[in-house]
Amino acid sequence: MKKFAIAIDGPAGSGKSTVAKILAKKLGIVYIDTGAMYRTVALSCIRKSIDTKSSGDVVSSLENLNIDIVTENGTQRIFLDGEDVTGKIRTQEVGQGASDVGLILEVRNKLADMQRQMAKETSVIMDGRDIGTNVLKDAEVKIYLNASVDERAKRRCGELEQIGCPLPFDKVKEQIIERDRNDMSRKHNPLMKANDAVEIDSTYMSVEDVACEIIEIVNKKIGR
Ligand code: C5P
Repeated sequence: MKKFAIAIDGPAGSGKSTVAKILAKKLGIVYIDTGAMYRTVALSCIRKSIDTKSSGDVVSSLENLNIDIVTENGTQRIFLDGEDVTGKIRTQEVGQGASDVGLILEVRNKLADMQRQMAKETSVIMDGRDIGTNVLKDAEVKIYLNASVDERAKRRCGELEQIGCPLPFDKVKEQIIERDRNDMSRKHNPLMKANDAVEIDSTYMSVEDVACEIIEIVNKKIGR
């Protein structure tokens, strides 16, 4: 089977990573969660007391940034300076910081280079905000996954509860709206649907239904 790439973009809480993990297992390909990389840059800044909004300081810190990604049984683990931070990057504070550092062109270029490198040798399913429009412009399959703001906030509340950091629904919704604004209006590689992407609205769909719909698209496009 020839190497291929699936790009999944969409706003926070649209279900990209849950669906991508299922698809990676079903298709036997590597899953790369690019949001985790932006989150790790943010965590590194927070730990060094660097303001994630201060682009000069964030860019200076990139020189000594040491991020490694390892895939174990189809699951991605991310390391910062040798420490496994996979769970630690899931807080709301780090998510907000990720959105800040994602505005900075130098951060985007560095992470996009790493992402392209990872997709060079093997078939991947990569999720993020700019995968179909920038990182993997030639991806064989491009999906834009969407859902209503209320549904996305509900899902995020569930995730935060699971990791023991619950927040009120209204607060989470407000942060999601703010994150959408940041992601969609930024100057460099804003979140948008690629012209050749298929849009799926997952508001009333189960994760399994979304995965099935994408598998159908993959089969049609790649002829598996
Ligand atoms: O997907 P996740 O919510 O973990 O991403 C955190 C933030 O990282 C996003 O809100 C976005 O600002 C940034 N990001 C990005 N480009 C990507 C992936 C994530 O700008 N490819």
